Amino acid sequence: MLKLEDHIRLIPDYPKPGIQFRDITPLLANRVAFNIAIDKIVSEVTHEGLDAVAGIDARGFIFGAAVASALGLGFIPIRKSGKLPGNVISESYDLEYGQDTLEISIDDVEAGQRVLLIDDLIATGGTALAALKLLKRCELDVVGASFVVDLPSLGGSKKIIEQGTAVSSLIS
Ligand code: 5GP
Repeated sequence: MLKLEDHIRLIPDYPKPGIQFRDITPLLANRVAFNIAIDKIVSEVTHEGLDAVAGIDARGFIFGAAVASALGLGFIPIRKSGKLPGNVISESYDLEYGQDTLEISIDDVEAGQRVLLIDDLIATGGTALAALKLLKRCELDVVGASFVVDLPSLGGSKKIIEQGTAVSSLIS
């Protein structure tokens, strides 16, 4: 039987020395693995009453948009700063070296919408927490967060759960 983890490639010292990067490109390229991943995310989330799927720039867009389409829902892109035109709100978060900023378009969401947050991978949780803050500032109800890969030793999924949001992942 196909194992999703067999389609994640470990790249040593990328993008910096000492970092073991989990490359999801082989999983995307394999039609069976990619479609199993989407089907599993769809089957593992509570989608009753869900209004939209939010995905994080950039690999979260690939999975998020596919899951949104499978559920017949719309998609909310949470983008790196300076990419979204119109009225946006921003949330900055710490990286190992420096900071990054995520943004959401406030004119394209409605308070009270029930949303599922998706990204390819959660490590320290800084990115997903910033996305969660943006969704909450828009008064959206984040019913869950789904990741293809969770690296639990880095503590990110625990931080999301502590915020009261359920987390699911395909590979831990
Ligand atoms: P965190 O903020 O949880 O430390 O890092 C997760 C974010 O960085 C996600 O948006 C993810 O796309 C990206 N990321 C960090 N490390 C990796 C990795 O090893 N593989 C992949 N595919 N993405 C990573």
